[in-house]
Order: sequence, then structure tokens, then C-alpha cells
Amino acid sequence: MDYRGLEAYFRSLDRSFFLEDDMKEYAAYDSPLPIGFGQTISQPSLVLEMTKLLAPEHDSKVLEIGTGSGFQTALLAKMSGKVFTVERIAELSQKAEERLNSMNFTNIFYKVGDGSLGWAEHAPYDRIMVTAAARVVPDELISQLAPGGRMVIPVGPPDVQELRVITKAADGRLQVESAGMVRFVELKGRYGWGE
Ligand code: SAM
Repeated sequence: MDYRGLEAYFRSLDRSFFLEDDMKEYAAYDSPLPIGFGQTISQPSLVLEMTKLLAPEHDSKVLEIGTGSGFQTALLAKMSGKVFTVERIAELSQKAEERLNSMNFTNIFYKVGDGSLGWAEHAPYDRIMVTAAARVVPDELISQLAPGGRMVIPVGPPDVQELRVITKAADGRLQVESAGMVRFVELKGRYGWGE
């Protein structure tokens, strides 16, 4: 991955563009902020760190679970070939799509639904990024990850989770590493914490 290109693009992104008017003044804080519907835009430094852990290549096909504001989606779309992003809250998905369209992205595909089930139609994915706290690693996401692929996913209870980096070898074997503890909003749906 082009780390310098990633960091330069990250610095160029105006986070206030991804926030509602009443939150724009806080955009520069390195903290999560409300985006409505009880959801948050993630802490920018964590978005950058997770993107580095995911290490997309310029031609990677990426699945993102939890579109939210679209901030992380922009970074992924800039650094990879195609991004398939799933959000369960239709209003958030629509707003993110409007923002990202206005930034002239043409390599992002949007779905409203339970992303804990992945997006089977376009699988397999070279990279999978989950930006909400899963109860367990969803079987569907493991099976939709391509051989040689990598997934970044926070797993654990609502108050604190382990950030896991899961790689799938060419023979399908999985390797799981811990990248520390994080705190995300809950993943809902079949592999999440209920509705
Ligand atoms: N990455 C986003 C950003 O940059 O703004 C922040 C994502 S926010 C921490 C987590 C998002 O995951 C929320 O928008 C939430 O609605 C969504 N979410 C939770 N459970 C989901 C599910 N089962 N399928 C799809 N999206 C889900």
C-alpha cells in the first residue's frame, strides 16, 4: 500500500464535510462525534490506523460494513479499486452517497441492510473493513473473504472490543492477530448485539 499517499489524502480530507451543521465546529477534534440516529463518525486517528492495518492495494475489491458518514469510505475508495459499502440505516447511507458522489467517486457501491451478512453478490473481497463492534466474527464475512485477503474487525461487548486483523492464506487457513482495544458503536443484525 502507498502509505505516503494514504496519509496525504487523509490530511487533505475535510472532516467537517461529513458532519451535520451542529457538529462541524468540532471536526478537528481527534474523537468520535455524533452523526445522528445514535451513530458516530469514528476518531480520525483510528480511521487512519485501521486503513493501514487493512492495507488495501490500488486494485483491491473492498467490502466495508458500516458506511456511517462516508468518511472511512472515502479513504478506502481513494486507496483501492472498488468499495462495496453496507449500512443498516437508510438515511445515513443516502447522505453518505450524496457526499461521496459530490466528491466525484465512481468506484463506490451502496447497500442498505444487515452488513453482518456481508454482500454475497459481489464476493469474494480482497479486504473487509468492519466499523462497528461485532459479537463474534460473522461466518459469512469469513467465507466472503478471498484467499490472500485481510479483514479488520472490532470484536467484543459494547463497552470495549479487541481490534482483530484476520488474514486468509491461499489454502484458506486463517491467522488472527490483535491490534489492541477499541470502542465502537454496536454492530446490529445477526452477528451483532440485537436490534
Ligand atoms: N466508518 C464510519 C464513518 O467514517 O463515519 C463510522 C461508522 S459508525 C462507527 C458504525 C456504523 O455501522 C453506523 O453507521 C451503524 O448504523 C452501522 N451498522 C451497525 N450495524 C450494522 C449492520 N449490521 N449492517 C450495516 N451497518 C451497520
